[in-house]
Amino acid sequence: DLVLSIESSCDETAMAVIDSHGEICANVVATSIDFHARFGGVVPEIASRKHVEAIVGVFEEVMAQAGRHFGCDTLTPADLSCVGVTAGPGLVGALVVGVAFAKGLCAATGLPLTAVNHLEGHLLANLFETPDLKPPFVASLVSGGNTMLVHVRDWGDYQVLGATIDDAVGEAFDKVAKALGLGYPGGPVISKLAAKGKKKAIHFPRAMMHSHDYRFSLSGLKTAVITYIEGENKAGRPINLPDLAASFEAAVIDVQVSKAIAAVDETGVSDFCVGGGVAANPQLRAEYRKKFGRRGVRVTVPPMVVCGDNGAMIAVAALRNYRAGKFADLSLDANPNAKLGCWSSNEKPVVS
Ligand code: ATP
Ligand code: MG
Ligand code: FE
Repeated sequence: DLVLSIESSCDETAMAVIDSHGEICANVVATSIDFHARFGGVVPEIASRKHVEAIVGVFEEVMAQAGRHFGCDTLTPADLSCVGVTAGPGLVGALVVGVAFAKGLCAATGLPLTAVNHLEGHLLANLFETPDLKPPFVASLVSGGNTMLVHVRDWGDYQVLGATIDDAVGEAFDKVAKALGLGYPGGPVISKLAAKGKKKAIHFPRAMMHSHDYRFSLSGLKTAVITYIEGENKAGRPINLPDLAASFEAAVIDVQVSKAIAAVDETGVSDFCVGGGVAANPQLRAEYRKKFGRRGVRVTVPPMVVCGDNGAMIAVAALRNYRAGKFADLSLDANPNAKLGCWSSNEKPVVS
């Protein structure tokens, strides 16, 4: 059985083909990031139009890549067993492009359709690193639009312990980068700068660090960084970018790590994992490994290639829905506000 997945929730048009063991046969990501960079963030209408332009080419490429995997020129829809599509959460105008394409493909071929939750995709990307990962465990989902701690009691049974009350972690990186004129996305450039800086150079607030719950707040930190930049500019002092980046990043990571430890302690689990674009942050990965390693908690982070938006992670969730017989009909619509757990199946995912 081969499953094709389609992801278009933000600025990546991505598709993958995986086999019934969860092995990746093809994984194609086309991004419209360059068209958003000068705006310092994703412009929804540009994202939608770029998906429309790219989607057929991405489909042809993923089918050809999967064909080569099996030693032929290209797969055809007859080789597939199921089509999975991200139906939310995300930008509505971006999601509908992928959903409409998936429905057209299924209507034309008779293939079954299944709806996938984008956040569950980020979570299940951890199975590419640790195939035997089993609930219960705690997961931190940190991306451009979300920041939450989740108690995964079972597959498909997600208890959100707490989430951000304002900005997401990735959004904070993006906004700080924008304030410094460093373009979009901010995460990769800030973390590269931070690697060369001193994290104690500037003290930034650790909001809600001791709030004794699992909520996060990042907008105050973003404002503190912007106020610092303005102050230095006004005083005519040059800004040490590596020190600023390292100090900002440390403030974010301190709060993330301390709440994650509290969540693992309270739930008594022995596994912790991270999902979403910010999971690619090297310092965050290192801190989790260090702090949890001491406590005997196993830490999983997804391989770098499946941290940001991609088709492979959506395919893993789609495969699980397919095995559980959880299909969508052709009236499926995008749900930009879908909660984690929406469209989830409790079938155990298979990744080998
Ligand atoms: P969501 O998954 O919540 O719908 P999204 O799909 O837009 O949002 P992702 O693609 O999962 O988000 O992640 C993109 C975010 O990850 C951006 O905000 C980006 O700055 C951030 N990011 C990427 N690499 C790093 C890094 N090395 N350090 C910190 N943040 C990073
Ligand atoms: Mg993106
Ligand atoms: Fe994402």
